[in-house]
Amino acid sequence: MGEVIKTDIVIIGAGPIGLFAVFELGLLDMRAHLIDILDKVGGQCAELYPEKPIYDIPGIPFTSAQGLVDGLLAQIKPFNAQYHLGEMVETVEKIGDPLFRVTTDLGKQFESKVVVIAAGGGSFQPKRPPIPGIEPYEGKSVFYAVRKMEAFRGKRVLIVGGGDSALDWTLNLAPIAGHLTLLHRRSEFRAAPDSVNKMRALVGEGKIDFVLGQVTALGGESGQLSKAVIKTNDGAVLEIACDALLPFFGLTMKLGPVANWGLDLRNNELIPVNTENFETSTPGIFAIGDINWYPGKLKLILSGFHEAALMAQKAHRYIYPEKRLVFQYTTSSTSLQKKLGVAPAPAPAE
Ligand SMILES: Cc1cc2nc3c(=O)[nH]c(=O)nc-3n(C[C@H](O)[C@H](O)[C@H](O)COP(=O)(O)OP(=O)(O)OC[C@H]3O[C@@H](n4cnc5c(N)ncnc54)[C@H](O)[C@@H]3O)c2cc1C
Repeated sequence: MGEVIKTDIVIIGAGPIGLFAVFELGLLDMRAHLIDILDKVGGQCAELYPEKPIYDIPGIPFTSAQGLVDGLLAQIKPFNAQYHLGEMVETVEKIGDPLFRVTTDLGKQFESKVVVIAAGGGSFQPKRPPIPGIEPYEGKSVFYAVRKMEAFRGKRVLIVGGGDSALDWTLNLAPIAGHLTLLHRRSEFRAAPDSVNKMRALVGEGKIDFVLGQVTALGGESGQLSKAVIKTNDGAVLEIACDALLPFFGLTMKLGPVANWGLDLRNNELIPVNTENFETSTPGIFAIGDINWYPGKLKLILSGFHEAALMAQKAHRYIYPEKRLVFQYTTSSTSLQKKLGVAPAPAPAE
């Protein structure tokens, strides 16, 4: 085991909210170490839907999910956060008042005055569909997320599911795929009605196919699919030729090790917080973003950004108990601008 890393703040989870927390903490002179199980930053945005558009980030009418992550990285650059990727936080122990020991599955240890849990849905995993013999195709021609749309150009794509992911990817991949079929077991959809209408319009124009039924078997060689066998809702059996299968059966939100850190939990999956500062039942441990719960909580990126700002105010009291916190705008505060590296150059000497 290496040396213990001593720091003001450990942020567990480098999703959009963990990243923005670095900014809010940095403005108040607090430096952070970020830890994430994934081998990249960006959480759900980077892992599940990097190329999908986001329209509800205030002041940014349109960006892709990866574009948002890239923007956040540029925004927090001045604060020089330390990243520990590909590591899962296993334990958080209270060893002082407040002081915590944070240990990862690789045995790395941190001693931190404040811990910020920005763990989203925890260790999220796509649900595997009940198709016998699917395993050898996974990662080769069966994918649970779309990393690069270009990978599907000209391919025969079969998308399975009726939720937002299935419908969104149907609409996004329709112009790229050589041929696209959407398969769903019911004619009702969980997806947004607008997406369903757009999908039906594409079917009407003959641009994609829609089939009611379920996949019962796969055919192919060495992990490369060539067909899926479908049992349709009216009992017929048909084969759909395909190069790629994209099943969207939802995600299992497994809280993972967070459940064992002695915090109060709601329904064993979310961390209740005080909305004044987003602190948990343990003073010095905060929870922001999708992982937390309070009355009226919306799992939106913009909500998490707000939570990060209020968390930083309270964290400051733990890190700098002697210092008075003065509220300032980045627009007008030269001290904040200096921290951001954008302070106007001093006027030239006479
Ligand atoms: C398809 C799709 C479309 C969406 N569209 C929008 C939209 O248009 N607008 C919007 O506002 N929101 C949207 N969302 C929701 C949005 O992505 C989430 O609200 C946001 O990602 C939450 O950010 P987060 O940082 O709290 O969590 P996450 O993005 O889930 O990141 C949490 C990170 O914590 C890590 N982690 C968890 N446990 C541990 C551990 N023990 N140790 C180390 N790391 C850990 C995970 O690996 C993950 O990277 C969408 C979500 C999906 C799936």
